[in-house]
Amino acid sequence: MTTPSRFIAPGATLGVMGGGQLGRMFVHAAQQMGYFTAVLDPDPASPAGLAAHFHIQSDYLDEQGLAQLMQRSEAITTEFENVPAAALITLGAHRPVAPGADAVAICQDRSLEKAHFGRCGVTCAAYSVIETAEQLAAVDAGRLLPGILKTARLGYDGKGQVRVKDAVELAAAWQTLRRVPCVLEQRLDLADEISVIVARAADGTVVHLPVQHNLHRDGILAVTCVPATGIDTGLQRQAIDAAGRIAESMEYVGVLCVEFFVLRDGTLVANEMAPRPHNSGHYSIDACDVSQFDLQVRALTGAPLVAPRLHSPAVMLNLLGDLWFRSGETERAPDWAGVLALPGAHLHLYGKVQARRGRKMGHLTITAETTARARELALQAAALLGIEAF
Ligand code: ADP
Ligand code: MG
Repeated sequence: MTTPSRFIAPGATLGVMGGGQLGRMFVHAAQQMGYFTAVLDPDPASPAGLAAHFHIQSDYLDEQGLAQLMQRSEAITTEFENVPAAALITLGAHRPVAPGADAVAICQDRSLEKAHFGRCGVTCAAYSVIETAEQLAAVDAGRLLPGILKTARLGYDGKGQVRVKDAVELAAAWQTLRRVPCVLEQRLDLADEISVIVARAADGTVVHLPVQHNLHRDGILAVTCVPATGIDTGLQRQAIDAAGRIAESMEYVGVLCVEFFVLRDGTLVANEMAPRPHNSGHYSIDACDVSQFDLQVRALTGAPLVAPRLHSPAVMLNLLGDLWFRSGETERAPDWAGVLALPGAHLHLYGKVQARRGRKMGHLTITAETTARARELALQAAALLGIEAF
């Protein structure tokens, strides 16, 4: 029962594995459409747990917790990609679960993910799997170095990655990463980073959001601009088609984000994918008639998927915990009133009590009539908040 085969109407309860901000925004979208929501997350103060009707506080593999979630929910989705596959298999035996355990397992492992890109005819950076000392010694330095060593599993926001320029640094980096299974990727000369969010229904319908133009700082998404005016439209089409093929060939049901690099010579290269809504799609809540979270609700409940329309150009700024510590060690909330005075400012805070450097506390989306105006206002917001100009 991995895919919803019939329409689950409003009034039913939808379950979510994971209680982070993505779950919280799913819960908001589901509640707006008249669904009840249940969240499983061990943290009593999890952002989605605080917003849901039912919060099951248990570990992701706890049998009783999973049983409670199934009892409550008619269909179940996930909001972070490291939900143990075993938990999804248990849930999938009794309830519609989207995306399914097989697709999530591919996205959880960089080696499987890259092999899947290859099967779909989608180019990714040259790479080598490193699981043994023999594989480490056999690395083709000419092809892959300088490179980036990434843990195959559990990496996010640039964590679990080490940049290496030669074989000595590579060996040291693998030690630092505790010799867990890794992939070594050639370091590429990036001109731009973009992402595409698609949603696929159980009947095979695929829709997509407009291509997002992303700026990362220290491995964390900082700014997303839509439409991606600086990116060649042919290349955008290519990225949308590739994301659709990737979803199709996994028989994926749900929302999927594929991140791409655009190289200086104009080549499009797939980076990684996430089996869920994505930080780069948050603007869609305020700038599209159907958001990525609406799409997640629709795909899960078997409701029709309609193509989202961007009604306003938008710039999204991520609000990291660093903004709370601009005046040193004393924590102080940013100037929200100043930001809210800007036209088209949509403030989203995730209800996290404790600000910490590098922690995603919220995001700000600025919508405007033109791309230039959205950017101008976003730069004003950035100046008020202490975010570096872009
Ligand atoms: P995460 O799971 O942490 O998002 P990514 O693989 O997306 O990991 O890497 C984070 C960022 O690091 C990317 O968005 C990009 O800016 C940079 N990066 C990753 N891989 C490469 C590469 N092969 N060449 C150049 N830059 C890279
Ligand atoms: Mg990434």
